[in-house]
Amino acid sequence: MQRIFDRGKRIAVAVSGGKDSMAALNLMSRLAKHRRGTEIVAVTVDEGITGYRDESMKLIRDYCSEHDVEWLTKSYSGYAGFTMDSLASIPRKRTTCAYCGVFRRTLLNELAMEAGSDLLATGLNLDDTAQSILMNLSRGDTDRLAMMGPHQAKVKGLVPRVQPLRQLPENEVMLYDMIEGIPFHRSNCPYSEEASRNLFREIVLRIEDEMPGSRYALLRTLSRLPVERNGAAAASCSRCGGVTSGGECRACTLKSEAQQLLADGLFSS
Ligand SMILES: [Zn+2]
Repeated sequence: MQRIFDRGKRIAVAVSGGKDSMAALNLMSRLAKHRRGTEIVAVTVDEGITGYRDESMKLIRDYCSEHDVEWLTKSYSGYAGFTMDSLASIPRKRTTCAYCGVFRRTLLNELAMEAGSDLLATGLNLDDTAQSILMNLSRGDTDRLAMMGPHQAKVKGLVPRVQPLRQLPENEVMLYDMIEGIPFHRSNCPYSEEASRNLFREIVLRIEDEMPGSRYALLRTLSRLPVERNGAAAASCSRCGGVTSGGECRACTLKSEAQQLLADGLFSS
């Protein structure tokens, strides 16, 4: 945590309203109070999911106004002209998460840029991180492993991401919320299709149970892997000017694809 504060004076915290991001926001803003010149700004993406995101938005709004935390938001409807509710309701080849993950990453980066922040902190805990490492290793996906960060190298147009909770087991984060009386939103996304994530959650818990400390071992493995941090993501998107490895960025491609699907749906009905 100390190292994070040494790297940035103005830090954006990505807040979804869940137990992890609320703990990260609470912890970061508490610690920032003791460091002169350090500012925390909460950033949230509204995917447009009724009964889920609208409720957590209210929780975050109340928390930020009560604790005097600056809060910035962006929505999918403002970005792409549609909500996740409408995209989820039409037939499509990709999962909802395939679109949502890319849009969220793009908008969180835009929010962090517009907030003028040096870093973007996320609420990923030890369990999340261990699951992702194992998942990417099992798929041989070294690109994603390299992308996991924490990011040291600066890429123009990308706010480096940091994970203040990555050494904290999930149940300890939950405990922190409970002890500190931090409110959080409990329900899961109704469109979540991350079946493989659940598989790796079980695997990590089982390995940890048999061999305590293995989550930390996975974390150490990541930091020691000679993964190539290729500087591919250095070009500008031909449409939005955002960061891309070349040509049009992934978010623009998926955005126009989804807009087309929605337009076709309207036309045929
Ligand atoms: Zn683009």
